[in-house]
Amino acid sequence: MGGGILQKRRVGSTDIEVSIIGLGTVKFGRNQGVKYPASFSLPTDEEIERLLNGAVELGVNLLDTAPAYGTSEERLGLLLQGRRRDWIISTKVGEEFIEGESHFDFSPQAIQKSVERSLRRLRTDYLDIVLVHSNGEDKRLIEEENVFATLNALKQAGKIRAYGMSTKTIAGGLLTIEMADIAMVAFNPEYVDERIVMAYAQQKNKSIFIKKALMSGHLQKMQSADPVQDTMRFIFAEPGVTSVIVGTINPDHLQKNVNSVLAAITT
Ligand code: NAP
Repeated sequence: MGGGILQKRRVGSTDIEVSIIGLGTVKFGRNQGVKYPASFSLPTDEEIERLLNGAVELGVNLLDTAPAYGTSEERLGLLLQGRRRDWIISTKVGEEFIEGESHFDFSPQAIQKSVERSLRRLRTDYLDIVLVHSNGEDKRLIEEENVFATLNALKQAGKIRAYGMSTKTIAGGLLTIEMADIAMVAFNPEYVDERIVMAYAQQKNKSIFIKKALMSGHLQKMQSADPVQDTMRFIFAEPGVTSVIVGTINPDHLQKNVNSVLAAITT
């Protein structure tokens, strides 16, 4: 195991503290309609348990899931029984993946129902972070569907501790930073458009989760001898990053990713 202790950073002005690398769990529950370079079988419960135990040992306390990730939430709920408080769980609302197709509903009723279902599936009475799983119409969802008003009511009711959006546009990222606790944005050496959103989050003391840091696994695009290390250095050179969410079902990759983050912030 690599040296050093994985730092934690606060989510906006909440009292939630997350490790600077989190574990993405798409591959725990869904292997259809995903854009990874190779097809894969879903891991067994034993494999997921081993990965979660390894993550805890490495100091990772953040899991990112979603109703759109197939059985991911249900599987986590089963495996985290009795250990819920060891984890910060971030899930989403607005998208579902049914029989190979995405369906979206951002109405207040759909968001409330989705949160109740996530609570049941995850076998918990609170969700730490809930992100709107954007369909690309970030601005419309915020300004016309008032998604943050719905999430704010759920926060006031004590069901969720923080909220934001996994965005697809810069305008949506900026509005999310203005109105919510956190924006999840894509960022990697090949895609840097969201820099302005990250800088704004830094200025406003809000949070940024990075998605697709490893280009969803398409690392050959980087032409580097150590693309994971180089990517983590690139990401943590940027102000405003709270945590990088990397998806993996491979314990060796998890360890490599954590070691690379440690090296990136200490050198
Ligand atoms: P990613 O984290 O950039 O890449 C994940 C891919 O990289 C997996 O196929 C994984 O394969 C591979 N990988 C991980 N570590 C590696 C290593 N050390 N060496 C080589 N390959 C490695 O992209 P992502 O999964 O698309 O996004 C990350 C997370 O962000 C997701 O899990 C999800 O939680 C979230 N996300 C959210 C949205 C959204 O719209 N809300 C969209 C995309 C993603 P192995 O399993 O073989 O390691």
